[in-house]
Amino acid sequence: MAVDIEAEHIAAGIRRATAPIPIGAPGECDNCGEDMPRLVDGLCARCRDGRIPMRPEAMRRAASREPTLRPSLVPISVSAPPAAREAPRRPMVALLDGIANLLAEHIEHAERLAAERDAAIERAETAEATLASIKAALGQ
Ligand SMILES: [Zn+2]
Repeated sequence: MAVDIEAEHIAAGIRRATAPIPIGAPGECDNCGEDMPRLVDGLCARCRDGRIPMRPEAMRRAASREPTLRPSLVPISVSAPPAAREAPRRPMVALLDGIANLLAEHIEHAERLAAERDAAIERAETAEATLASIKAALGQ
């Protein structure tokens, strides 16, 4: 159903947007050996996203590294005074709360529609079964 697909698409977008963001560092990729401006867990973007197949030893090294993730929504500038750091976040947090509430309502609505659809399908199947048994009883 289009509403379900749309709701899942929006939910996936929010999950991606709120996922922790790797910091990354320049260096030589553990897998392909290219010198790259940004490696995450020792791997370049092409190796991380599968465009270059992973060698088993590079996979093991990447898995054993310390995680380099930082949470999203944390201000990048830590040298600014606390007031300046916190002030811009409040409207953003309020906006994100609003979006989260809208999304929750949207998902709830989609779930309600899906439940109504399932109930309608069940009623239709029951009606078809009843019709079939009536036809059978009438010898048709
Ligand atoms: Zn690479």
